[in-house]
Amino acid sequence: MYKSIIVGTGPAGLTAAIYLARANLSPLIIEGPQPGGQLTTTTEVENFPGFPEGIMGPELMDNMRKQAERFGAEFRTGWVNSVDTSSRPFKLQVEGLGELVTETLILSTGATAKYLGIPGEQDNVGRGVSTCATCDGFFFRGKEIIVVGGGDSALEEAGFLTRFASKVTLVHRREELRASKIMQDRVRSNEKVEWALNRTPIEVIAGERGVTGLKVLNNVTGEEEIIEASGVFVAIGHHPNTGFLGGQITTDENGYIVVNPGTSETNVKGVFACGDVQDTRYRQAITAAGSGCMAAMDAEKYIESLEHEAAVR
Ligand code: NAP
Repeated sequence: MYKSIIVGTGPAGLTAAIYLARANLSPLIIEGPQPGGQLTTTTEVENFPGFPEGIMGPELMDNMRKQAERFGAEFRTGWVNSVDTSSRPFKLQVEGLGELVTETLILSTGATAKYLGIPGEQDNVGRGVSTCATCDGFFFRGKEIIVVGGGDSALEEAGFLTRFASKVTLVHRREELRASKIMQDRVRSNEKVEWALNRTPIEVIAGERGVTGLKVLNNVTGEEEIIEASGVFVAIGHHPNTGFLGGQITTDENGYIVVNPGTSETNVKGVFACGDVQDTRYRQAITAAGSGCMAAMDAEKYIESLEHEAAVR
């Protein structure tokens, strides 16, 4: 039996691993199909404190992994099919690893940005297609950018990107926006934003040096149009990776794990959550890492309380 199993290896899971390993609790970290999480799909990370020249996303994650391994964290690759948190210790059914048993469970499975699923999109991730304005906006100084989506995320990203871009075109498939009125008013008063409503994206156009535009279908005229831009930011939402929990851990209506405010505690004692899987607001590497530290410290305290209970029994 493990004292702690961490599911997910983004900045949250790896930070939790560093802390638990340093506390001599020998955590097991289960790596899924994308070790390192979303940061491994970005290029340079310029806003992670401590790296004044920036650091490549994959290198940052590799460093965190090595740091955890240095203190004795164990990594194994597997896909968690289901968990049973109805009684202690908790049981995990892991493809490739069988049944694993643990006293505490840290959930750091992240959230996956939704993509449009159109031709040219996946081929150009990192070459002009992005799902993170905070991460990549800086690379588009003085350039024209497209943001796709009509919700709060898209409008927030569009507003943010006007700091860098010469023009931001907001492409949305309907006339009405889903975003809140305050967000709409703010963006409507921004002179750098142009609106391309009633347009459904159909293809990302790119050349040798990356993205050059987006082909859209004008839903009013029925005609195809090309909007020129060096960047296409897709902001059509995220989905948290919580399907394997089978409803045992409380989530909000969008599937994000609900934690007790100011902690990493879920509705099940001994199960903790950190990183994007419980974060609908910040979604940054540094906030994920911070919440991973919280989860490790909460787990440590919980293990101590179990040991104390056993000693007085
Ligand atoms: P969202 O509200 O679900 O909006 C997603 C948008 O993307 C919708 O406008 C949708 O179009 C569009 N879309 C979805 N699939 C598409 C596709 N395949 N092709 C083209 N367009 C597509 O997601 P969100 O904006 O990420 O927001 C999620 C939650 O976080 C919301 O509750 C939001 O209020 C909250 N949030 C809050 C803030 C803030 O308060 N500062 C910031 C960001 C997010 P349709 O409208 O046509 O369906």
